[in-house]
Amino acid sequence: MTLTIVKNATCTFCGCVCDDIELHADGVRIVETKRACSLGESWFKNHTAEHLYPDALIDGHPATVDDAVEAAADYLLNADMPLVYGMSNITCEAQREAVSLAELIGGVIDSHTSL
Ligand code: SF4
Repeated sequence: MTLTIVKNATCTFCGCVCDDIELHADGVRIVETKRACSLGESWFKNHTAEHLYPDALIDGHPATVDDAVEAAADYLLNADMPLVYGMSNITCEAQREAVSLAELIGGVIDSHTSL
């Protein structure tokens, strides 16, 4: 079994965003997480490359990603009060895109921390 070793990986599970994690992966799953705390270790080890679900769903039915993006765009453009919500465990670049999307569709933005 060949292991892929990634040095200085970033953990985005909590707000600390540790960026000195060393990951060892066997092609399907991460098998070792050096310097991650127990939360980070659990987070990394429970994200696998296994294909467990369809690429996308539309109204609960499997769909292509392109069709799902089209459907999502239709929902957002036709929404009265669109809410862009979530953004935990995503990068700063993705957060910027979420803010741009909210501005584009005249929506509001919120994160899970408002709970
Ligand atoms: S390794 Fe632990 S402390 Fe660091 S970002 Fe991940 S969960 Fe947070």
